[in-house]
Amino acid sequence: MSHAATAMGRRWSFSIGEVRGTSVRIHFTFLLLLLWFGVVGWFAGGLAAAANTVTFLALLFLCVVLHEFGHIFAARHFGVRTPEVVLLPIGGVSRLERIPEEPQAEFVIAIAGPAVTLVIALALIVLLGGLPPPDELIEITGPRSLIVQLAYANVVLFVFNLLPAFPMDGGRVLRAGLSHWFGHRQGTRIAAGIGQAMAFVLGLAGVFSENIILVLIAVFIYFAAGSERGIVELRGITSGRPANESMITRFVSLDGGERVSKAADALIRTEQTEFPVVDGHGRLIGLLTRDGIIRALVEDGPDTPIARAMDSDIPTVSRWTHMDDVVPLLAGGAKAVGVTSDDGRCLGYITWENLMEELLISRALDRRAEARSRESAPGRRL
Ligand SMILES: [Zn+2]
Repeated sequence: MSHAATAMGRRWSFSIGEVRGTSVRIHFTFLLLLLWFGVVGWFAGGLAAAANTVTFLALLFLCVVLHEFGHIFAARHFGVRTPEVVLLPIGGVSRLERIPEEPQAEFVIAIAGPAVTLVIALALIVLLGGLPPPDELIEITGPRSLIVQLAYANVVLFVFNLLPAFPMDGGRVLRAGLSHWFGHRQGTRIAAGIGQAMAFVLGLAGVFSENIILVLIAVFIYFAAGSERGIVELRGITSGRPANESMITRFVSLDGGERVSKAADALIRTEQTEFPVVDGHGRLIGLLTRDGIIRALVEDGPDTPIARAMDSDIPTVSRWTHMDDVVPLLAGGAKAVGVTSDDGRCLGYITWENLMEELLISRALDRRAEARSRESAPGRRL
């Protein structure tokens, strides 16, 4: 879910530069959006209109980047590293190394973005000497129209970002407030529930007003809320436990010196879809997935050495590392995390899928416990 979204966010984006250790990346769908509006503008009003629209979007993009850097600088203040920010058509997503569970820190980080947007909006409105009414929007031409549009866009951005639903900043502000009273896990549950209810209302509004973009945003919010709840629950059940209690221990590993044909054989003989690759001393040197095997067979043939076909960018942790440090690695897009013994041998590995199974089991046990406590307290039933 979120894992896939984050991984996809990075895979389909490219870096346009770095600001103090944070790389600014653009998702290719954002470029598609620019292209789309450019083409629409060109058909509507020729080259000048197309240039106008693209200039507007580029400036809006700059406003979104400034909004994201509001979050980023606030996060740094609390000692959270921020390796990158990705720009999607729906806005920017800053990848924070972790989101602080202290309500105060989360509140400040969440509110810093909208605060920047508000400052931009107010500055533009002051520059204009007041915000002209929306119906004048189409009458004004030239550079002034660009500033009016930008002012309106920033006001909309400000309001939209404060919607109390994940993954909007308003959702995090809400969670920070609820966590203060109910604790992080319960606060997230309530905030996610409110977010999903809101997504439902937004979706209905979109259907009735025949606004497909609103419907898409609603679907997006709905799933984002669910995935936020999943990650927090997962942290709740694995927190404080060492990595070796969550790892996969029964598996077939491959030798980096062997050929891809051997890996293809293992793919058929086992149920595994990913294989840890080890060197002669049993140390993890990479991971070969089903896709990797198929790709190597097509591109380089069955005699390719496994070490050349594998993904060598697999983080490893010691068996004693806390899961609190493992979950963010997987949530951040790592395909797997290797778990090693004190002398560096690979003991097992952890994948997102196998953590999700742990979550399902924990939820099932929770539901059973809830049902039992209801049975034993019939007076509380309505
Ligand atoms: Zn934001």
